[in-house]
Amino acid sequence: MKSETIVVLGAGVIGLDVALALAEKGLAKYTTIIAEHLPGDTSVNYTSPWAGANFSAISSSDEKALRWDKIGYKYLLRLAAQNGTRAFVQETPSTEYWDDMPSQEKLNSMADYLKDFCIIPKTDLPEGVAFGVTFTTVTLNAPMHIGYLIEKLHLDYGIQVIRKKIPDIQSAFLSQDTQLVFNCTGNGARVLPGVQDSKCFPTRGQVVLARAGHVGRNVMRHGKDYETYIIPRPGSNGNVILGGFMQKGVSTHDTFKEQTESILSRTKALLPDLDSPMTEPLAVFAGLRPSREGGARVAMEEIALNFGKRKGTVVHNYGAGGTGFQAGYGMAIEAVQIAEGVLQSILHSSEGTRARL
Ligand SMILES: Cc1cc2nc3c(=O)[nH]c(=O)nc-3n(C[C@H](O)[C@H](O)[C@H](O)COP(=O)(O)OP(=O)(O)OC[C@H]3O[C@@H](n4cnc5c(N)ncnc54)[C@H](O)[C@@H]3O)c2cc1C
Repeated sequence: MKSETIVVLGAGVIGLDVALALAEKGLAKYTTIIAEHLPGDTSVNYTSPWAGANFSAISSSDEKALRWDKIGYKYLLRLAAQNGTRAFVQETPSTEYWDDMPSQEKLNSMADYLKDFCIIPKTDLPEGVAFGVTFTTVTLNAPMHIGYLIEKLHLDYGIQVIRKKIPDIQSAFLSQDTQLVFNCTGNGARVLPGVQDSKCFPTRGQVVLARAGHVGRNVMRHGKDYETYIIPRPGSNGNVILGGFMQKGVSTHDTFKEQTESILSRTKALLPDLDSPMTEPLAVFAGLRPSREGGARVAMEEIALNFGKRKGTVVHNYGAGGTGFQAGYGMAIEAVQIAEGVLQSILHSSEGTRARL
């Protein structure tokens, strides 16, 4: 069995979480990651480095999203406790406000597993807020966390990493030996020949990176037509991410002065501690969340290949929108479960090969 038996296409948080779930099942030596962009790169076509990132109630209330969130939260909490410094993940106190009542499904789900979950009494809510909760969240330093993941996968687990842009999904089957491809191409799924999922669209977000070492809390306000948030960045010597924007279908990587001003004034109103000489804006950037009508696609498909009459198995895992860091591990566990039959046959035939030697 060769290292290209399983290919993970994409090295954003979604692909890296899939590679991790494979490695945890003892499949690292049969796995190769292929990606045009790798941790350390900055590109409009690579979303993961631009994320906040935290766990929040921003995801939708459908059953799948709630399930992925729960698995992701438990995994990130464990990671923060066991290896938080190396992984750039930490527990952080969090407050979330809604201008309109959130769905009951979302609230029941959050109350079920979030650490220290409490409903804020109505009398303590800011003006215009219909509902609020406090809980312990997990925050991540997004660019450093994906750097941690690729290092762990490559150095600790020995997974091969190839930088390459592939022209179509069939080309991810590197040779006759490739049996399974995980398609984790983010926004690329909209244009990649053989996938070209027209339900995919970008949701642009602009954020401000600021030094604010005196701020150690996560605060979010889900408005009628806006999202405002403050996310402390672990392992960054006191930096925070201030946001934000959720612009559906907008795909420019440019940043806009009026949006920066809007972010600064909304975040100061939400957390008055920010209105201090100790807060120093450092940089402004924008990223494109890989969104999809109906939510993320985690599903298996058989496709015709370029060589011979063989078919190839693809497990799609894209469309995480604004939740790739919080839900990515849950999505990865499910993507790997979907392919359980193929993965078992890879493990068994490798045992058979060893026995014959
Ligand atoms: C401003 C902002 C704030 C955010 N905040 C949060 C947050 O607080 N919490 C949270 O959970 N999420 C947050 N997100 C969302 C999160 O960043 C995304 O859900 C996540 O990064 C998506 O990861 P991905 O791996 O699907 O895509 P990407 O990171 O874009 O990775 C796609 C990969 O596929 C590769 N690829 C694509 N096409 C090809 C090809 N043809 N050949 C080879 N390689 C290819 C790319 O090179 C790349 O390696 C935020 C996003 C933004 C923009």
